[in-house]
Amino acid sequence: MPEVRLGDVIDDFCVKCKRIMNHSVVSMVGPEPAKVRCRTCYSDHDYRHEQAPPPKVDTRKSALFNEVLSKLQPDATAAAAEPEPKAKAKGKKK
Ligand SMILES: [Zn+2]
Repeated sequence: MPEVRLGDVIDDFCVKCKRIMNHSVVSMVGPEPAKVRCRTCYSDHDYRHEQAPPPKVDTRKSALFNEVLSKLQPDATAAAAEPEPKAKAKGKKK
């Protein structure tokens, strides 16, 4: 893993851009970047190790989203819900 130094450009998750963006290291704690600045929106924040922050819990919204998603892709959700029954088709039963 390459050493990160002050001013280096690294990838991190930007909360404002809501995606992984290029960031400049603005402060370090030991060998680790502590704070970074998004090179796109110039907001400073703690280095997140490229992890998105946990989403604010809005279960109703996500439930609605999943519902919409399942309507759009009924096959995808069905496939995820239960494994393909292909294996059963083979061989005799009884
Ligand atoms: Zn940004």
